[in-house]
Amino acid sequence: MTSTRRSAIVIGAGVGGLTAAMKLAHQGWSVELHERLKVPGGRCGRIEADGFRWDLGPTIMLMPFIFERTFASVGRKLSDYLTLVRCDPNYRITFRDDTTLTLTSELTRMREELERVEPGSFERYLRFLAKGQVQHDVSLERFVGRHFDSLAQFLAPSNVPDIFRVGAHRTLFEHVKRVFSDPRLQQAMSFQTMYLGVSPYEAPSVFSLLPYTELAVGVWYPMGGMGEIGRALEKVCREEQVDLRFGSSVKRVVLEGGRAVGVELDDGEVRRADVVVCNADYPWAAKHLIDQNVSSHPELEKRRYTSSGYMLYWGVKRRYDELLHHNVFFGRDFKGSFSDIFDDLKVPEDPSFYVNAPAHLDPSMAPAGKDALYVLVPVPHTTDKIDWKVEGPKVRAKVLARLAERGLPDLEKDLVVERIITPDDWASQLNLERGSNFGLAQNMFQIGPFRPKVWDDRIGNLFYCGASVQPGTGVPTVMISADLMVKAIEQRATFPSSLALAPRVAAGGVA
Ligand SMILES: Cc1cc2nc3c(=O)[nH]c(=O)nc-3n(C[C@H](O)[C@H](O)[C@H](O)COP(=O)(O)OP(=O)(O)OC[C@H]3O[C@@H](n4cnc5c(N)ncnc54)[C@H](O)[C@@H]3O)c2cc1C
Repeated sequence: MTSTRRSAIVIGAGVGGLTAAMKLAHQGWSVELHERLKVPGGRCGRIEADGFRWDLGPTIMLMPFIFERTFASVGRKLSDYLTLVRCDPNYRITFRDDTTLTLTSELTRMREELERVEPGSFERYLRFLAKGQVQHDVSLERFVGRHFDSLAQFLAPSNVPDIFRVGAHRTLFEHVKRVFSDPRLQQAMSFQTMYLGVSPYEAPSVFSLLPYTELAVGVWYPMGGMGEIGRALEKVCREEQVDLRFGSSVKRVVLEGGRAVGVELDDGEVRRADVVVCNADYPWAAKHLIDQNVSSHPELEKRRYTSSGYMLYWGVKRRYDELLHHNVFFGRDFKGSFSDIFDDLKVPEDPSFYVNAPAHLDPSMAPAGKDALYVLVPVPHTTDKIDWKVEGPKVRAKVLARLAERGLPDLEKDLVVERIITPDDWASQLNLERGSNFGLAQNMFQIGPFRPKVWDDRIGNLFYCGASVQPGTGVPTVMISADLMVKAIEQRATFPSSLALAPRVAAGGVA
């Protein structure tokens, strides 16, 4: 890149990389982005076949205000790029005894649902939500929305009371167990940590902000699916003149004198820039893109990784009105299934799973009268113990059998198209270490200052954004990560004195 403007190379067009690229370009940087896939969004991408469309990974949009803020930060209105609708009811849980619980933001209906399962629970639920609100507000302002440069900063006297206020010292399951006595409600109010790929028995109770935000702020859906988010960010990047290069894989970060000065592509071409932004998932990138003689991170081998997903994407020839937009099916042994997935690295005997059926709300997801179903079975990250060619068909059969028991007996016969993704595929197609869906786990010892920073301590002008660095995983959180990283670039990057920021280029009619 030869220019008098400050220049950045971004590796990866996930939500983190695209957000970073559009923000830097909006500030006047010359930005070149290399993405090894042909399409934007990374994990937040989409699959299409025979007129059916499925989200690849994320299906649940929480905290839409973060998306609004992100677009506003580059002078855009979110609604000009995405049409959001609220899902109500939020989802239905089917327990192993075949009772169901429909979670809704409508309090009268919610009271009926909760009282049916555990009489007297609604009042406690309201208190649980009130606590969740504190955890949500405090943690967004004091923990998720900021970067921790050191442990000392995290444990500063001004911060410690907030650590206890949000309950970062107790697990979510312990917290929920104090509120609800029926095991089904304990499960229903704690499984949400699996949105981050972490067991509720390991995740800090601050994550009761998840059930709170679902109920209070709502579960949202962008028309066209979550894959539209990547496309919307790509559009802004183009308007901001980001040089987007899809199908371009980075082999390594080029270092000179202890600083990142560019990247070498798989075909050997070297592209130079003032700073390098890495959005490829951190543990994979630290191992594969950085010269291990300069900076290696053996501690990454000892870190806890999130679960993976065995995925089924089904196009079916009729509409399944028995399903809501979001459906959760719990297996027999709730607690044991987390030990299986996270400690013993085996697939639970009776796995829990999630089914997404977006075409009911959004006809663009399937041909008329047909359904596009997405099944996510949480499973361990890759391990020598599991051969997915053997295990996959067994898991698929168990899902079909359970759905048949629940009134969908003809599903297999109705299939017209099927795509399958295993943990091995997540590892090889998305460059995710151990095929771990959500990157490094967000347990008590891997959040805040215990999580990798958005810059590299050993290599100058090398920055990171995405799921495995601070503040953490999930689409909105990754947008925050990009924001924190762009601020860190402003403070930490060093340049030859001749370089300046170009005046802001107005784009897309926005001043
Ligand atoms: C199955 C599943 C379900 C999920 N559900 C939800 C949900 O409901 N809600 C939610 O908010 N979050 C959910 N998540 C989490 C969310 O998808 C991620 O946290 C987020 O999308 C990560 O974005 P990212 O930018 O950090 O990384 P990625 O999306 O992984 O993007 C990194 C990009 O870098 C590219 N790349 C890697 N190596 C190279 C290289 N060498 N050269 C060039 N490019 C490279 C990759 O191809 C990829 O496009 C889910 C994730 C999965 C997998």
